[in-house]
Amino acid sequence: MSVIDLRSDTVTQPTAGMLNAMAKAATGDDVYGEDPTVNRLEAELADRLGFAAALFVPTGTMSNLLGLMAHCERGDEYIVGQQAHTYKYEGGGAAVLGSIQPQPIEVQADGSLDLAHVAAAIKPDDFHFARTRLLALENSMQGKVLPLEYLARARAFTREHGLALHLDGARLYNAAVKLGVDAREITQHFDSVSVCLSKGLGAPIGSVLCGSTELIAKARRLRKMVGGGMRQAGLLAAAGLYALENNVERLADDHTNAQHLADGLKAAGYEVEPVQTNMVYVQMGEKADAIKAFAAERGIKLSAAGRLRMVTHMDVSRAQIEQVVATFADFSRN
Ligand SMILES: *Cc1c(COP(=O)(O)O)cnc(C)c1O
Repeated sequence: MSVIDLRSDTVTQPTAGMLNAMAKAATGDDVYGEDPTVNRLEAELADRLGFAAALFVPTGTMSNLLGLMAHCERGDEYIVGQQAHTYKYEGGGAAVLGSIQPQPIEVQADGSLDLAHVAAAIKPDDFHFARTRLLALENSMQGKVLPLEYLARARAFTREHGLALHLDGARLYNAAVKLGVDAREITQHFDSVSVCLSKGLGAPIGSVLCGSTELIAKARRLRKMVGGGMRQAGLLAAAGLYALENNVERLADDHTNAQHLADGLKAAGYEVEPVQTNMVYVQMGEKADAIKAFAAERGIKLSAAGRLRMVTHMDVSRAQIEQVVATFADFSRN
C-alpha cells in the first residue's frame, strides 16, 4: 500500500531526474565560495527575483533568522504576525540568537497585517523603547496569497516609517503561480526574501535568502556563525536548480488537487475553509485524533488537529486525492 502523506509539502522524495542532476553536479568548498553549483543557484535566484545577491542555506528557519539578523541589531525590534512562521514556529530564534525583540500583531483573515495596527505598534524614537526596524510578512500565509495591491501599500508604508521589509516566502512560488504572475511582481516590494526549495518545489534540503549585496554579505558572515557554512553543497544546490527549472509551473496541479479535495470533503458534509493554494483546512474539532487513526489504517498520514491542515504536493496524485475523499466520507458514515 503506497502511503499518502498530507501532513506537509516537505515530505516529497527527490525524483530520478533530480537525483541525476545532483549526481552530475560540479562541486567545490562553498565556505571558500568555490562551489560552482551553489554560486549558480544563488545567481539564478537573485536574478529571477530581482535582487543583487543571494545566499544558499540549509533551512528556511536559518534563512529567515539571517535575514532578520542582517536587518536588525541587538535591541532592535521587528513587527510580525502572531501566527507567522518566523515568530511562532522557529524556536524564538530572532530573540534567542539575534536579541531582536518581536512585536507580534494579530493576522487578518486574508493573511495580511493591518497596517494601522502595525503603525500603532511602531515605537517612538525614545530610549525607553526597542528600536522598531523591520516589518516581516509571509506569503503564502497558511495557504493564503497576499494581494499585490496590499504589498505595494506595505512597501509605501515601510518607506514612510523608515522600516525595512522582509518576506518569508517559503511558498513564494505557490503565491506567484496562484496569481499567475512572475515571482518578481511579489518580490519587487521587499528588501529581502527567503524562499524554500524543500517545500512544494520538491528539493530535499535548502532555502535561499535574497537581498542587496551588503545585506547578503552580512548574512554570509552570520551563516558561518550559526553553523550554516556547508562545504560541497553543490549536491544540494543542484537539486534546487532542478526544482526551479522543472517544478514551479506544476504547483498549479497541487492547487487544483487541493481545491478538488476541499470540494469532495464539503460534499461529504465537512466544514472546509476556502482554498487558494495547496492547503486545505477542515474543522475536525474533537474528532482530530479519531480521523488521524482511521486514515492511518488506510495508508493516509494526517496531522492531528481540531483545525486539520492537509497539504497537497508532487507526491500526491489526483487518484490519491479521490482515495482521501472516500476515506473521509467513510469516516463520517461510521
Ligand atoms: C517551512 C517554513 C519555513 C522554514 O522551515 P524550515 O523547515 O526551517 O525549512 C519558514 N516559513 C514558512 C512559512 C514555512 O512554511
